[in-house]
Amino acid sequence: MAIEKVLIANRGEIALRIHRACHEMGIKTVAVHSTADTDAMHVRLADEAVCIGPPPAADSYLNIPAIISAAEISHADAIHPGYGFLSENARFAEIVESHNIIWIGPKPEHIRTMGDKIEAKTTAAKLGLPLVPGSAGPVETFAEAKQVAETTGYPLIVKAASGGGGRGMKVVTAESQLEAQMAQARSEAKSAFGDDTVYIEKYLGDPRHIEFQVFGDGKGNAIHLGERDCSLQRRHQKVLEEAPSPVVTPEERERMGGIVARAMADMGYRGAGTIEFLWENGEFYFIEMNTRLQVEHPVTEAITGLDLVREQIRIADGHGLTLRQQDVNFRGHSIECRINAEDPWTFAPSPGLVKQYHAPGGMNVRVDSGLYAGYRVPPYYDSMIAKLIVYGTTRQGAIRRLRRALEEFVIEGMKTTIPLHQKLIDDPEFQAGDYTIKWLEEWLGREGK
Ligand code: ADP
Repeated sequence: MAIEKVLIANRGEIALRIHRACHEMGIKTVAVHSTADTDAMHVRLADEAVCIGPPPAADSYLNIPAIISAAEISHADAIHPGYGFLSENARFAEIVESHNIIWIGPKPEHIRTMGDKIEAKTTAAKLGLPLVPGSAGPVETFAEAKQVAETTGYPLIVKAASGGGGRGMKVVTAESQLEAQMAQARSEAKSAFGDDTVYIEKYLGDPRHIEFQVFGDGKGNAIHLGERDCSLQRRHQKVLEEAPSPVVTPEERERMGGIVARAMADMGYRGAGTIEFLWENGEFYFIEMNTRLQVEHPVTEAITGLDLVREQIRIADGHGLTLRQQDVNFRGHSIECRINAEDPWTFAPSPGLVKQYHAPGGMNVRVDSGLYAGYRVPPYYDSMIAKLIVYGTTRQGAIRRLRRALEEFVIEGMKTTIPLHQKLIDDPEFQAGDYTIKWLEEWLGREGK
């Protein structure tokens, strides 16, 4: 069946991003939106729009019956979930498929497996991915924990199996604290996630976060599109991402990329996915897999020349992968800045009316954003209002282009994180590519005002 109309079950820049890929493919789009997003750009540009509820996401963008009804009344033949919201909800994927609507995403059972952190690790181990040393499954008693600690040493980290978004983790530095910390981790997990299952990993002191983009056709073929370095984080939220990673050599990329692509092929994985690793002293350690498109996917698009949303749609439509691994070429360097409606130094949210808007342009500059002058950024959702992505033939060239593009960017009427990015990219350590997941918070403590 050929996809002719896609319902976009998301909002903001990613809804617009999906709309653009669809229209370039001659596919019509249906936007769904809350009453807070009536004037949003993706709603204006889509061929049709359906209001699915009031501002709170639980009543609109997470409202499964309303979204399915919108797909039915608009005769959409497929649903693209974007990222966040329902994108990693296996139940939603099943419901979509049971209504004979094409799910532009992985098989529901793979979403479910990778959504459970312990099962994800067990699966990753079976598929031959290198893991952080730790418990083979859940750890229930203090005696078991002590036994695992003999293999991991201290510090170690106790993690909630149902945790997410950087929550539900406890670092234990010595055996004397193990029993108390484990009990606390379990009771916190119980109250936060309704599940007190925990597991243990060796705590890596100062790693980088490096993730591989993968694509599978669902029939046993898979490719990798290289890595992204997302180590620059604040409170486990990514701030700036780049591809390739400043520390991964072409040989390492080929070796690790080969491992992840083989794993996805063996699994029969379908669609886009990201395998996240911590990286320390040249070693990769699997932490989790995201079974969806990532916010930072444009840096991969910039260095491979592939449109990842188009790939997702083609795979969902049964066309298979456009490229074989040997046809994937990596060129140059790309950097993405996430621009949030926040105070750049206190990170206090700053939604409001966009009084003036001018996006940078010029060669190899891309802005993914739903902003326009006169638009009011609603206070109900994520604070990211734009992504600025640049490409250069070298990392240094990309940084120079980024500096120029940030200078041009005008968003008046609210505070944004543009000044943070401007200062960050001029830091000599950033310029040397010399940073880890702890670096940005330390830098903010030192340089933030
Ligand atoms: P979540 O699903 O909550 O995002 P992850 O397992 O992806 O949880 O971990 C989130 C972040 O926590 C990682 O990016 C890293 O900064 C830190 N972290 C997780 N596991 C470890 C570990 N074993 N050692 C050191 N840091 C870790």
